[in-house]
Amino acid sequence: MRYDVITLFPEIIRSWAGESITKRGVEKGIIEINTYNPRDYSLDKHKKVDDTPYGGGAGMVLACQPIFDCYRDIEKTDDFEFIMLTPQGEKFNQKMSKELSFKKQIIFLCGHYEGFDERIRLGLKPKEVSIGDYVLTGGELASLVMIDSISRNLENYLGKQASSDIDSFSDGLKGLLEYPQYTKPRVFEDMEVPDVLLNGNHKEIDEFRKQESIKRTKARRPDLL
Ligand code: SAM
Repeated sequence: MRYDVITLFPEIIRSWAGESITKRGVEKGIIEINTYNPRDYSLDKHKKVDDTPYGGGAGMVLACQPIFDCYRDIEKTDDFEFIMLTPQGEKFNQKMSKELSFKKQIIFLCGHYEGFDERIRLGLKPKEVSIGDYVLTGGELASLVMIDSISRNLENYLGKQASSDIDSFSDGLKGLLEYPQYTKPRVFEDMEVPDVLLNGNHKEIDEFRKQESIKRTKARRPDLL
């Protein structure tokens, strides 16, 4: 999977990409993360990328020219998605994450300040995506949330030790929340691990986990049932 991130703050993306599982994913060649700074494409002599809004109002708006030129300069594969991060977009969820993981390439456009000149949306026709009903300062964290989640669906990304199949919302759990997990010790501050998890009977353990998963989903997210 190739990710291309258009951002005024490429260091945020690069520093995250250089850590933990993401770093390993890059080293193993499962993912590739490139960044592009619209400032490098600005034709303005001061490399300006934004301006005041027509009609007045607070804040600055990202201008068309640097974004159009930057987007057009990115090499495209035959199967890519172009995503504009915006709180006004379709809400990101596990289903979208899974669907996007089948793409060869995803190009993310991160906004900043007051957002984008409307003609960027009209002219480049991105898929508009929001990571939730709240407003961030920029699209960088939103793009990283999406990259992190999408990459977890890719084969061998998590390694042999972990699997995304039993995570909450996954197909393996039929879209439900994950059951509670325990590790050693068996008793901690008078709280005991349920006996069924210790008896080695995998049929019983599976059934217990399934019931716990349903119980938890009913209590916390009945909308998922
Ligand atoms: N004025 C815009 C509005 O009300 O829709 C919000 C602009 S926000 C301060 C700056 C940038 O952060 C946006 O252009 C977008 O890229 C990013 N952003 C903020 N909240 C987001 C969210 N919930 N999901 C995805 N991106 C978000």
